[in-house]
Amino acid sequence: MIRTHAAIVLKAVPYAEGGAVVSFLSELGERLSGVAKGVKKPTAKWVAAFEPMSMVRVSFFGKEHTELKRVTRCELSFSPLTLGHLESSLVMACLADLFDRVAREGVEDDRLYRLLSACGRALKAQPDNALGILAYAEHWLLHCMGLLPHPRVCGRCGNDTAALVLFSPEDGWCCGSCTAVDPGEALPPGTREYLRGLRSGGADVAPRVNPVDEAQTAITALLRARLLQELGGGLRSYDVLWRTV
Ligand SMILES: [Zn+2]
Repeated sequence: MIRTHAAIVLKAVPYAEGGAVVSFLSELGERLSGVAKGVKKPTAKWVAAFEPMSMVRVSFFGKEHTELKRVTRCELSFSPLTLGHLESSLVMACLADLFDRVAREGVEDDRLYRLLSACGRALKAQPDNALGILAYAEHWLLHCMGLLPHPRVCGRCGNDTAALVLFSPEDGWCCGSCTAVDPGEALPPGTREYLRGLRSGGADVAPRVNPVDEAQTAITALLRARLLQELGGGLRSYDVLWRTV
């Protein structure tokens, strides 16, 4: 039985005789994987179709519940790659790694597909904002995983005006009127506004990384650490990114 899906390529791991085991995020937000057999003369098109973050139409052959299906066709429909733009390529690898860990076989979550495809299109349009788009994706991924409460009101007392001073795993965003935090350790002023900005726009308007914006710097680091902790750490794509940029 052959089934065809619109999907985004996540990872391709080399497999016997020039083939690869490739994972995908389907349009319905489910992780799919299959073996792409080695071809004698790989064409540029065949290779490009398995680049992380490529949007493709992929066909699988195999029984419904067999362990490894076979990839019979994979046609590239959109590539977010900007040739010669290293930072953007490295961020694409990070995004593919993240979604490969978060998406599950047999579990559909179409928010994941919408988020990743929006990030791919934004990367193509603005490769120079790759790091901003990565931070945007990390924030929404935590949200999709149910780990990021809304910053509108304090998770402890419900106050919606006092500055947010702490992110607690139990209560979420906590404000200064109910939570005492050493001023040196409190979240910077502007935290709530930065989070609102992230939530209100799409990936194409993801805030650019601005090293003098303390709220952005602190929140990006905090959310990234939270996400990587949840995923068990050890994402090689991140190590490569930080060694390079
Ligand atoms: Zn509070």
